[in-house]
Amino acid sequence: MPADPTASANFGVVNDALPSRYRGRFAPSPTGPLHFGSLVAAVGSYVDARAAHGEWLVRIEDLDPPREIRGAADDILRTLDALGLNWDGAVLYQSTRADAYASAVDRLRNARVTYPCACTRQEIADSAIASIDGALVYPGTCRNGLPPGRSARAMRVRVDDAVVEFADAVYGRIRQHLGREIGDFIAVRADGLFAYQLAVVVDDADQQITDVVRGADLLDSTPRQIFLQRLLGVATPGYMHLPVATNAQGEKLSKQTNALAVDRSRPAAAVIDALRFLGQAPPGELARATPAAALEWASAHWRRARIPRQRTIAVAS
Ligand SMILES: [Zn+2]
Repeated sequence: MPADPTASANFGVVNDALPSRYRGRFAPSPTGPLHFGSLVAAVGSYVDARAAHGEWLVRIEDLDPPREIRGAADDILRTLDALGLNWDGAVLYQSTRADAYASAVDRLRNARVTYPCACTRQEIADSAIASIDGALVYPGTCRNGLPPGRSARAMRVRVDDAVVEFADAVYGRIRQHLGREIGDFIAVRADGLFAYQLAVVVDDADQQITDVVRGADLLDSTPRQIFLQRLLGVATPGYMHLPVATNAQGEKLSKQTNALAVDRSRPAAAVIDALRFLGQAPPGELARATPAAALEWASAHWRRARIPRQRTIAVAS
């Protein structure tokens, strides 16, 4: 089935209009404490929301139990709190959202845009074509039915010739040919877990997010998410991706690269470091103020146009 946006009328429209007031979010995975890389996304999304007199929500993306660290979600929330990054409403946990994801999968299945896939990782590696970021483009083996004698492991969404284009507030026009650059992608994983792309789309729609501000490592995921929004008949928010902090070797700061936890004992300095990374120019004396004062200054003086356009920036770690 072609990716015709008008086809969404057949899907049971859940939420096809965005609220008029800005609603942003920060959505960390609880794989470790908040480090400078995730702090940049927290501060950038928070200040962008407050500068627009909007709301800022927090969602814990605890969709993948094997990757999670016990206590990390609470630790992240304590750090946000210490830094004056006060969120609106209750924190949403993806681990409580299985029914919503299952219902979205049913809608996709009923619309016949999904199919079961029997392929193992090795089989795909053997026959796939490498895509833009070195990830593998699924070769379409199961698109017209499971090979004889094989049983379904995962569920994929068919992309056909869909081309998705959007205007990112920092990186400008982004265009992706899903068939050539991504291939039919996973909605339900072989281990039975819902795929990240699906969960994010369902959550952003249900939380009525108007503006997604997050790291540029997700820039290549955004077209898949917009494609799913069209299939599910939900609104597409505005997108602004932020440069990703790396170590001197160019690796994204993460638990795997031993990124240091944000120092809660110097909260204003942490906020100011994140603002400077984002090209803003907070006055030095704010480092001796409260983090709330630093965030208030930032919300009043926020300039999206000053955010650097490199996808990654190395920081001392
Ligand atoms: Zn397959």
